[in-house]
Amino acid sequence: MPTTLKKLVRARMEKTGESYQQALRHVRAEDGSRREGPKTTLGPATRTLTPTRCIYCAAALTTTTRWAHVWPKSMGGRLQSREICCDNCNNAIGQLEDQLRSNLLHVNATMGAHNGDGMPIVAPLEIDGQSFHISGPLVNLQVSGASYDRGAQRLAVPLPAGFTNQVGAVGKHLMRQGRTAADLAIEPGQEPHLPPSGRRTYDLKIGASSIDKRVFAKMAIELLAFFDHSLALRPELAEIRRFIRDGVGTLQSKPDRRSRGSGIPLPLLSEMFNLIEVWSFKRALYFRVTFLKWISFTGTLTTSWEGGKFRAAYGFDARKPAQWFKKADRRDGFNLSVWFPEMRDEVSQTAAKEFEAESARLMEITEIPPRELPPTIEKLRDGVTEWLAKQPRRAKRTPRSSS
Ligand SMILES: [Zn+2]
Repeated sequence: MPTTLKKLVRARMEKTGESYQQALRHVRAEDGSRREGPKTTLGPATRTLTPTRCIYCAAALTTTTRWAHVWPKSMGGRLQSREICCDNCNNAIGQLEDQLRSNLLHVNATMGAHNGDGMPIVAPLEIDGQSFHISGPLVNLQVSGASYDRGAQRLAVPLPAGFTNQVGAVGKHLMRQGRTAADLAIEPGQEPHLPPSGRRTYDLKIGASSIDKRVFAKMAIELLAFFDHSLALRPELAEIRRFIRDGVGTLQSKPDRRSRGSGIPLPLLSEMFNLIEVWSFKRALYFRVTFLKWISFTGTLTTSWEGGKFRAAYGFDARKPAQWFKKADRRDGFNLSVWFPEMRDEVSQTAAKEFEAESARLMEITEIPPRELPPTIEKLRDGVTEWLAKQPRRAKRTPRSSS
């Protein structure tokens, strides 16, 4: 097999997660259509041979350009490409995404959403000076650091959950103090004040700031670029690209539960999905971004679109981001519904109600792990002695010699 074909297949496998055979079939099909003349398929594989430029600043992209995620990876996004934007623009936009991510952190955490690496999104919570981590319906107490009691000349080390963690936490302190496991004692600690369970409040103040809007527009235009780079570069989108990259100008965008969107037939999505759509409707190019099924914003990228009919969507299960789909074709979507101010409340009230119901449901189906009993002192001593023996010698602090 020629090396260029191999390269194309490998690039496609990396990009789409397809098997070798699937990728080979697609690349061969696309290769055929290229030879036959006008391009009939959509997708990044058809562009691998042409040098690409950053859609924001026109810098040349290379094979070492960092992956750009259409939907922020920290919020579960996996659709990525090296042929959208340069590292500089990627970093600059990443900072905007951090703000949106923190605005949505608590609701993502309570709904059990996962990030692009498949790890649960965890939100911190402070109550009465104690730290908790929210993850799904569980609120986990975070063990505080060790404290030294001067009067009693004792060091108290709160025990984390899990025997291995306990041995490590205690062992580190003993090592630092130059003590052995013989010096250990176990005492009951203070009972934590648990936060009230059940009802949680959801702050849905997203989408109003210019920064949030820049991220919405970024997702939309990068979805466009993922499927057809030339469409994202069209002159009628110059203003919106400047808005995203430099914050110049503005974007018409609003909470919206009424518009029908791109009209792309969606596969059966989970109860909690995230979705970004972009579509043409006559001379307009619209987008819709949906967080956790219930929070939707629509907006207008341009009203002088000359790029032809096009619509695209990328969506995924917020709790299992590995379950995602993407789709694009050359058709118009639907017009946006007429906006009226009450739509803002409609979105936030519906979302709050649905999230509360979902929270209660999660509470019901989740098994709360039983409270772990502390280890016996003998078991802890044995474990710590073993741990200390395994530590590299030079890491042990030896008393300084007097010479
Ligand atoms: Zn750039």
